[in-house]
Amino acid sequence: MSSSPDHGARDHAVWSASATARNWQCAGALALTMNTPEQRESIHAARGTATHQVAEKMLRGGPTPKLGDIEATKGHQIEVDEEILASAEMYVGYVIDTVRCSGAGTAPLLMIEQRFDLGPLGGPFEAGGTADAVIYDGYLKRLQVIDLKHGMGVVDVKGNPQLRTYALGALLANPGLAVDQVTVTIVQPRAPHRDGKIRSETFHVADLIDWTADLLVAMRRSKQAADEHAACGGNAVLLEAWAEKWLRPGKCKFCAAEGWCPKLRKKSLDVAGLWFDDMDRPKLNAPAEQSPEAVARDLAALDMLEDWIKARRAYAHALAEAGTPPPGYRLVDSYGHRKWGAPEAKIVADLKAVAGLDADDVYDRKLKTPAAIDKIVGKAGAEKLKSMWLKQITGRTLVKADATDRPDAPAMADRYFEATE
Ligand code: SF4
Repeated sequence: MSSSPDHGARDHAVWSASATARNWQCAGALALTMNTPEQRESIHAARGTATHQVAEKMLRGGPTPKLGDIEATKGHQIEVDEEILASAEMYVGYVIDTVRCSGAGTAPLLMIEQRFDLGPLGGPFEAGGTADAVIYDGYLKRLQVIDLKHGMGVVDVKGNPQLRTYALGALLANPGLAVDQVTVTIVQPRAPHRDGKIRSETFHVADLIDWTADLLVAMRRSKQAADEHAACGGNAVLLEAWAEKWLRPGKCKFCAAEGWCPKLRKKSLDVAGLWFDDMDRPKLNAPAEQSPEAVARDLAALDMLEDWIKARRAYAHALAEAGTPPPGYRLVDSYGHRKWGAPEAKIVADLKAVAGLDADDVYDRKLKTPAAIDKIVGKAGAEKLKSMWLKQITGRTLVKADATDRPDAPAMADRYFEATE
């Protein structure tokens, strides 16, 4: 059992479980990124890591993490806030409930943050990862893998290659267990999904073995792409042909090459070309472009283009930070909000002396939010307070039809009549 709560310090295998879907789709991704210097950890990644660290501490039963604690990740010091605690609690609650409901009298096994190595499969790369929680129910001969996702990008569980890699890793890391059934579960507290924030898939272990053969084929494809990439020897013409053959955009989010990948750049510019005519003039006013179908087409294209634009900007920033800003650009400081420059007692005394302000002028006393009060009174207390708060609708969001389990928002006219009845 791994016992390192310092998730940020972990090394990733060449073929990591979290990159399986991307490498499967785009065989050249590994060749393009395997020698790329590690990128600076984003604040979103750091918050995800901090959430995993908090959850692990909760599961291991040490001192309970609390609001305001600091979790150190690779590149950040993250303050534990309500959102992080809520995510960790939902996941830990599910793991504990699953253990309680497993075993039918026999003691189930719980492995927390179990590291695994796919080396015994004989693939061409060092491959592995870490499963958040693995539970074995000897009575049902069922192996369960539970994965916490703190991010808001909705992740489907059905046929998910990352989860299947974890399941395979859990089988290899726990030899000798009699397994018939495998259940993989995603706990994603911040992403409403039509199947719920906790969603699972169960399959027979034979299906996992079949899938492993496909995984090895994908790994060998990536190996061939890597070998051919090395054989190009930096020749631009050969590399262009290589990119055409091996790079397949589609799962580019979090790819280290997203900001400079030639194929993604080409695809993004092709997509942008949808909106221009042969003379490079925008064709937004053409009648055919105003149909709902054309708008739906554009929304799908915009998601991809927005991701690429963000990645391209981040790449330009990284170049500048490394000392080679793109021509015509330079780095300048950005500023946060103003902060007081001395301890609180001194500032309050000075505000009184210099500006004649009293305590009412200087301090805001604010009622805490329902979420903050819930933390103080606990689950049982929070139940009693349910009738005291409202969840206000702040607007309407356009989402993909199958993206969430939230019901359709009523038409504006219906809402108007509801409000005036
Ligand atoms: S950005 Fe996309 S297409 Fe390019 S290497 Fe990465 S996954 Fe492949």
